Amino acid sequence: MTGPKHSCGVVGISADHDIVAVLQKALMIIQHRGQESAGISVFDGMTIHTVKDAGLVQTALSRSRIEGLHGNMGIGHVRYATTGGKGVRNAQPLTMTTAFGVVAIGHNGDITNYGNLRKEYLANGAVFQTDSDTELIINIMSKYLGQNSNPILAIRATMSEIDGAYALVLIINDRLFAVRDPHGIRPLILGKIKGGYVAVSESAAIDALGGQIVRDVVPGEIVEIFKDSFKSNMPKFTCPYAHCMFEWVYFARPDSVIDGQEVYDVRRRIGVVLARESPAKVDLVMPIPDSGRAHAIGFSNESGIPYEEGFMKNRFAERTFIMPDQHERELAVSTKMNPIKSTVAGKKVLIVDDSIVRGTTLKQLVLMLRKAGAKEVHVRIGSPPITAPCYYGVDMKTRDQFIANGHSVDEICKIIGADSLGYISISGLVEAIGIPAEKLCLACLNGQYPTRIEGERERFQSTLGDSSFQS
Ligand code: AMP
Repeated sequence: MTGPKHSCGVVGISADHDIVAVLQKALMIIQHRGQESAGISVFDGMTIHTVKDAGLVQTALSRSRIEGLHGNMGIGHVRYATTGGKGVRNAQPLTMTTAFGVVAIGHNGDITNYGNLRKEYLANGAVFQTDSDTELIINIMSKYLGQNSNPILAIRATMSEIDGAYALVLIINDRLFAVRDPHGIRPLILGKIKGGYVAVSESAAIDALGGQIVRDVVPGEIVEIFKDSFKSNMPKFTCPYAHCMFEWVYFARPDSVIDGQEVYDVRRRIGVVLARESPAKVDLVMPIPDSGRAHAIGFSNESGIPYEEGFMKNRFAERTFIMPDQHERELAVSTKMNPIKSTVAGKKVLIVDDSIVRGTTLKQLVLMLRKAGAKEVHVRIGSPPITAPCYYGVDMKTRDQFIANGHSVDEICKIIGADSLGYISISGLVEAIGIPAEKLCLACLNGQYPTRIEGERERFQSTLGDSSFQS
């Protein structure tokens, strides 16, 4: 439906000094949100300069590549790799010259009505260089900037056309803005740093810059960021919040705080709930590193079962999840993970991971543990079964890729070869996150989407085609 997925990281900074190195550092802290490409756009007092390339921040924005760049205001972006839409063509920030001046944009999320809007804009003469929904946002904004040179009105008008998930950082001429979609699906947080202000996807970057968290950007809010303050423009109408549960379960750094809830703490609480909901008589609890670590600690604390590191992770291995071929993905798991034999041999072990998508990782890991001499292998999962696609930026695109789609928990347990399998319940997950279910996006778990998506059910709507609720 959309172009390339954009589960990415964004940052925007305004300060009383040169912020190029600060932007680069912030992007390194949120590198886990995207490893495909990295870029920054900086306003030097006259115009906007952009440097971007494929690869990690340290390569794409190496010292030699950014040394000529200077400015007190800028935005940055790291892009999440998917099987489609790779390469520098889709790297961000995107820049465009509009009737009102130059615009640079970094986007985290996915615009769900992209297909229809793109057709409409093409028919009206717009031109697109990429298949990215971010370019569509710029086109829409350009139209409104042409009609009315007030950037805030142009952003508001753009927001009224686009649906879906978007955390945006924008430079419009000499002004910096941070924008969060009305449902607050993706995170965006404001911080005070030395001599300036920052808006960034995750608070861990504010810590690393030696700053203090001010607050989350409110869903639907437009924040203009200055070197010595920020100014808020709130939406006239609010709609139900829908913070993505997967940020806490898997995507964000454990040391980040999102919408008031620290990610590590949520994961630990997930482990506690899992231990209550799906106890097991085992000798030790082990995480699947790194994503299952805090969940496993919570399980161990609650159950009193010793915690051990039983897998060594090769931090230089490629990401298995995005490999296009199943056989390749299976082979890659053994490059990525190896059991520590002395920990597991002769033991009943329980492994904890954050999620199961296709089941590839766990199937391989359970087998490895058996080969390493484990007597029993039990599996616990920190998210409920994932059965529906994500249209908001996490790379889980089609129903047929989910092992939980069409298989019961017992069947999945057999497929992955475990002695027992337990998923956290949806209510247990909500309890662990500490935010009411009505304010979370649980669409990948219950198929109820917070925004309109053709062929899918909207939240608070019981059947397909009942359009009594529209976002
Ligand atoms: P799978 O092997 O297909 O069952 O995928 C599950 C594993 O991939 C878990 O270890 C997760 O930590 C990780 N994972 C889950 N969702 C994603 C995602 N969207 N992108 C990358 N890795 C993921």
